[in-house]
Amino acid sequence: MTDSTSDRALQTRIVHPEVELAPGFESFVTPVMRGSTVIFPNTAAVRTGSWRDDTQWRYGLQGTPTSAALAQRLAAIEGGKYALLQPSGLSSISNVYFGVVKSGDDVLIPDNVYSPNYDHGKWLAEDFGVSVRRYDPMIGGGIADLIQPNTSLIWMEAPGSLTMEVPDVRAIAAAARARNVITAIDNTYSAGLAFRPLELGVDISVQALTKYQSGASDVLMGATITADEAIYLKLKRARMHLGLGVSVDDCSLVLRSLPNMKVRFEAHDRSALALARWLKTRPEVVSVLHPALPDCPGHETFMREFTGAGGLFSVVFDARYSIEQIDAFVDALDLFAIGWSWGGAQSLAMPYDIAALRTASQWPYGGMLVRFYVGLEEEADLRADIERALTSALG
Ligand SMILES: *Cc1c(COP(=O)(O)O)cnc(C)c1O
Repeated sequence: MTDSTSDRALQTRIVHPEVELAPGFESFVTPVMRGSTVIFPNTAAVRTGSWRDDTQWRYGLQGTPTSAALAQRLAAIEGGKYALLQPSGLSSISNVYFGVVKSGDDVLIPDNVYSPNYDHGKWLAEDFGVSVRRYDPMIGGGIADLIQPNTSLIWMEAPGSLTMEVPDVRAIAAAARARNVITAIDNTYSAGLAFRPLELGVDISVQALTKYQSGASDVLMGATITADEAIYLKLKRARMHLGLGVSVDDCSLVLRSLPNMKVRFEAHDRSALALARWLKTRPEVVSVLHPALPDCPGHETFMREFTGAGGLFSVVFDARYSIEQIDAFVDALDLFAIGWSWGGAQSLAMPYDIAALRTASQWPYGGMLVRFYVGLEEEADLRADIERALTSALG
């Protein structure tokens, strides 16, 4: 301790400690670097910096080395250049809206979209002078006919996480690019592992990191990923004004799960596909909507563009079963919990009445849909659980 500081009071020395640590500590762990205040080296650095500049740390809300390390890994997974983190998947969706849509603009949203995304669009339509139209997710290049001079954003989801239609992302992105319309895809389903939309011409990929990236049902976070600097800066500006910071402790949890995400994804995929194939043989089931199986609209696109499917699929029950019977089936499941979200180790099931969610496309089934998320339990136990619940509720 230098002479000038040693005569300061203990309290001051506790507030401004002179810590001397042994050098040379190394581990595999990204340090949790917290900070709201970021210390500038001098006043000149305060005056010369800009929010656009990623090489200067300015304020904890914009990120710390911990969040930046996570963002970099996420950009790499998707083949993007820039990733921004938001405190939930839904706030990532909101960041896209506020980044690229202004009053007077028109937005196209597919019928298979995550429904809070559509609700967000409706809010902008009601209160912010934006027009929002829905389209049939199977429209492909036909989207060109829907693009208006004021269309500024086209959303996609591949597959839709309830109804599982796989849109022709390549064709929609090409039609949008030809008219200078920005495209954004909710790519949560594939975690960026099994599908790389930026390489097919999509401008922005959105991830709900709450799902596979967290992997333990304990973190809420989202990301927007792009390879385009101008779009990145639009998103970054909106994120700054909206104050969408993330907790570095949460980033640390996601960083902890990321190395085993691919192995988990493949394990979910194997069990889910086996259960989906088996459910197709059951007399209670009319259709199994798993994109790797032919019942699913867009199956060919999926086989062409995706390398895997993960743990989600949906089952359409025969119309002879009432909502109450299907609810009783879901209630009778033991290993499948009832709850929103997915991506953790535990299996989930949720019943839906899809016809009520549709506007731009016809839903071809009369029966109820149950969306399954297949966790990391033994597949044989999950099968036995479903079989028992089918017999007790519908048998
Ligand atoms: C869960 C989910 C979101 C939203 O993520 P949150 O972190 O729960 O806000 C968005 N899109 C899809 C497809 C999702 O499954």
